Amino acid sequence: MTESPLATRTPPLERPRPLHEGEELPANGNGRPGRLPTINGHVVDPKEISAEVDRLGADEAIAWAMETFHPSLRFAVSFQKTSSVMVDIAHRIDPSARFFYLDTELLFPETYTTRDALAEHYGVEFDRYAGITLAEQEEQHGANLWRRDPDACCGIRKVEAMREALNGAECWVSGIRRVDSETRATAAKFGWDKRFGLWKLNPLADWDDKRVWNHIKEHHVPYNPLHDQGYPSIGCIPCTSKPGEGESDRAGRWAGTDRTECGING
Ligand code: SF4
Repeated sequence: MTESPLATRTPPLERPRPLHEGEELPANGNGRPGRLPTINGHVVDPKEISAEVDRLGADEAIAWAMETFHPSLRFAVSFQKTSSVMVDIAHRIDPSARFFYLDTELLFPETYTTRDALAEHYGVEFDRYAGITLAEQEEQHGANLWRRDPDACCGIRKVEAMREALNGAECWVSGIRRVDSETRATAAKFGWDKRFGLWKLNPLADWDDKRVWNHIKEHHVPYNPLHDQGYPSIGCIPCTSKPGEGESDRAGRWAGTDRTECGING
């Protein structure tokens, strides 16, 4: 890996300390045996590291994560506006950054177009992960499972594929932000992801829309054209609509239900 141009600006993180004796070990929410959070082979205190990374800007946090975890660092890309920003920053720091996406086979055509535009613009590949085919899902669970049981549908089409994507990874990167929704309002920039049993970096956690769009315009970054058509948040076609007047950006996701997350970020 080439040395990041940001390395000299990245504040050195304090040496990780071992967990205190008797300190509670993290549970693992995905049914796999829990394991202690480690960085470079050292058991560390997630809260301590989290507080340090929270002080870093997005570029610095990504540069630090690249230096610390690459090539066991995976950027999850949804081809929404924040993904465009992450790809741009990560690629400028290190062109060998590894990106992946979850192909539910129910994404908008514009989302696939954005994938291709980003791939061509940066010369990167997006590793594709997918669960069973839609035909297999219909055969096993009936038609339109997303209407009857979105938890099961997301579990099959997203969470299972996510586990496969993170196999062998030490840290993954998400584009979630605190302004996205109430459930994300306290998201840390860096912490131990109990669900998948590895570290998680949210480098844009403290970014607002203005900052995202300024970055996209300033750096001429390709982005999903659905944002210009009134979709602030974009997922699968059956579960994405335009939010109503005065509603939050994510109100158009699973509209009409109390569901707010798909099981990957919460
Ligand atoms: S967002 Fe909807 S269609 Fe996509 S996996 Fe989840 S429930 Fe299924």
